[in-house]
Amino acid sequence: MERFDLIIIGGGIVGLWSAYFAAQRGLKTVLVEEHGIAAGASGGVLGALMPHSPDRWNAKKQFQFEALNQLPGLLQEIEARTGQNVGYRRVGRIAPILKEHHVDDVARRAEGANEFWQTEQSAFAMQHMDAGPAANWPAVEAMPFGVAADNFSARLSPRKLIMALAGSLHGSIDMRFATRAAFLGEKQVTLGDGSILHADKVLVSAGLASFDMLRPYAPSISGRGVKGQAAVLGTDLDPNLPIIYSDGVYLIVHDDGTTAIGSTSEKEFTEGRETDHLLDDVVEKARALCPIVKDAPVIERWAGVRPQAQGRDPLLGVIPQHDWLYVATGGFKISFGIAHLMAQSVLGALCGDETAPSIPKEFTPGNRLPR
Ligand SMILES: Cc1cc2nc3c(=O)[nH]c(=O)nc-3n(C[C@H](O)[C@H](O)[C@H](O)COP(=O)(O)OP(=O)(O)OC[C@H]3O[C@@H](n4cnc5c(N)ncnc54)[C@H](O)[C@@H]3O)c2cc1C
Repeated sequence: MERFDLIIIGGGIVGLWSAYFAAQRGLKTVLVEEHGIAAGASGGVLGALMPHSPDRWNAKKQFQFEALNQLPGLLQEIEARTGQNVGYRRVGRIAPILKEHHVDDVARRAEGANEFWQTEQSAFAMQHMDAGPAANWPAVEAMPFGVAADNFSARLSPRKLIMALAGSLHGSIDMRFATRAAFLGEKQVTLGDGSILHADKVLVSAGLASFDMLRPYAPSISGRGVKGQAAVLGTDLDPNLPIIYSDGVYLIVHDDGTTAIGSTSEKEFTEGRETDHLLDDVVEKARALCPIVKDAPVIERWAGVRPQAQGRDPLLGVIPQHDWLYVATGGFKISFGIAHLMAQSVLGALCGDETAPSIPKEFTPGNRLPR
């Protein structure tokens, strides 16, 4: 039996950031991934880092705000360490306004941004504009009452970040791929080849599979998968163009000039990895929004299943009555913007480090159990 300080189950964005901070803390760590790096929801193409709307402020919005602020510095650290670029750029976002009375909502959010989106270094803002900053992005008729524009949203390349993160871990933690982890008992995990790992702490960051894995230890914790489909168009556009977000459809230009289009949001599905006509509909909506991508070929179609914990907040922290068992999942649609802070705070809890970022009470497993 091999012994570790920490076993991390799952090599998606949450598991990899957790491994990164575990290594920084000097924990003897093994990460187990059933398939390959980013085989789950983290292997996608969009990479939007969009803040929650700056009104009706709450703990989840504050957590995401702090995470989005911290992310550029951490990404620079990873890039410097690996020499790999992760495709990050703070390009802002424009959201076409489709109904006149929504103009007032933007004014209210702009006030909220002035209050909540401020740090000592940066003042982020939202404002109403008659049109986006670039011609035909989107088409004039797609923004009958102008746009809500913010300068806080950003994007990155999910796959590039995943590869860089995995590369940065080389030599500092043990990684086991193509092998499935299953609980054998307290602090013990068995792998597909029959070998047994033992650790003081186990962190489940297995995306959607986390909910089933935890059931024996926390039967009342639940979650579900929400399938998403996305595509990449072979464009050659300016990578500084802001993200467009309209009625559930995103257009995101990446550093190579291609445009990622997303996403469907499917609660009912049979095959989580396959794309179908629902993606065609999203692509058609995107083409109608921005006729400059009208004839661009679809060069990739992709689907994955987002983990959504019951109650919609991320699920983060210790499993009550099992002080060796931790969970970090349920980032749902915003994981790439918060996974690093989820990782730091769960590692802090796991190490009993009170100086680490704290976990909002709403996120904790203890908060989801019947009282
Ligand atoms: C179409 C689409 C678009 C999206 N767009 C965005 C976006 O623009 N911005 C954003 O922030 N988020 C976005 N998301 C959401 C984001 O991708 C997910 O929330 C995130 O990837 C979840 O990461 P995770 O690490 O929790 O789970 P996963 O990436 O699913 O990782 C879990 C890993 O655990 C492994 N695993 C499972 N069971 C076991 C086991 N028993 N043993 C070992 N390994 C196991 C799996 O193989 C998997 O690799 C999008 C998702 C989709 C589907």
